[in-house]
Amino acid sequence: MRQKNKYEQPAMAIKLSIVIPVYNEEENVPKLLSWIDSTLKNKSIPYEIILVNDGSTDNTWLELKQYAISNKQVKAINFYGNFGQSTAMMAGIDYASGEYIVTMDGDLQNDPEDIPMLLKLIEEGENDVIAGERLNRQDKALARKLPSKVANFLIRWLTGVRLRDYGCTLKIFRSDIAKDLGLYGELHRFIPVLARLQGARISQVPVKHHSRQFGKSKYGLNRTLRVASDLLLMIFMRKYLQRPMHLFGGVGIAIFFLGVVINLYLLGLKMAGHDIWGKPLLVLALLLTLGGIQFITIGIFSEVQMRTYYESQKKKTYKIKEIINE
Ligand code: UDP
Ligand code: MG
Repeated sequence: MRQKNKYEQPAMAIKLSIVIPVYNEEENVPKLLSWIDSTLKNKSIPYEIILVNDGSTDNTWLELKQYAISNKQVKAINFYGNFGQSTAMMAGIDYASGEYIVTMDGDLQNDPEDIPMLLKLIEEGENDVIAGERLNRQDKALARKLPSKVANFLIRWLTGVRLRDYGCTLKIFRSDIAKDLGLYGELHRFIPVLARLQGARISQVPVKHHSRQFGKSKYGLNRTLRVASDLLLMIFMRKYLQRPMHLFGGVGIAIFFLGVVINLYLLGLKMAGHDIWGKPLLVLALLLTLGGIQFITIGIFSEVQMRTYYESQKKKTYKIKEIINE
């Protein structure tokens, strides 16, 4: 670490932290950094960039490290392994010191030229989060845009947080809201819902979107079920986190009474001399529905337990190997 001179003026407070998770983006990183630099250098905004290398297997870390060594306003964080985009974003946010925090992708799909506009909007003070909306999304229609449309519709409908595009990484936050998002797993898609849990005021604004020129997208159709599971969790968190008994108790009581009624009916039949041994299909259906409900509730409970585990011990869901310019 650099030794501070006693007579040195304190550094100007950082207004903006730009957090960028990167996983195998060696070709994109240098281009993105010089693009951000040329966009912001004449704007007199005191900013820092925090790049989180999420266990890349190419030369991404070397690129980051080199850049950070010669640019003091760039922090480069190196993870031990691949913890996922959400966790990498959270680590970057943990280390951010700006009054506002921007998150963006490291693959040149988001446009740094939107950043001054986002900052200006949030500084008006009406919102705590402003989310980018990709009006003209440049991704594959069938594999990406269609599932995302369905997901956007479901999230909007089921969580009651009304945005048109939840999946755009380009967003700006008041720092205190970003720091308490509690991102891990693949929850970055639900950031607006997580922010709303804190009572944040959220609005959205159209941003530019470019197609990927270098490297590959890390996601495909295989995440559909994971997104659906996270969606169930978000509904639970929005509605029942502080009163889980209302959900599980309510469903439990209803099912229990249904069972009692059916059993009384069967008892009646039996006493009237009928054979009540049902069809195998009925048994299967019963087991499946009950099993399904059990899996879902156990899933939600273990997730809540997991959060308690990490939060009560201030444990991190990531492990850092090295930081340049901490
Ligand atoms: N990313 C990451 N860890 C991962 C997967 C992705 O840090 O495990 C980063 C990736 O390098 C990029 C951003 O997250 O900067 C978005 O990823 P990608 O472009 O693959 O997603 P898409 O734009 O296709 O939704
Ligand atoms: Mg991308």
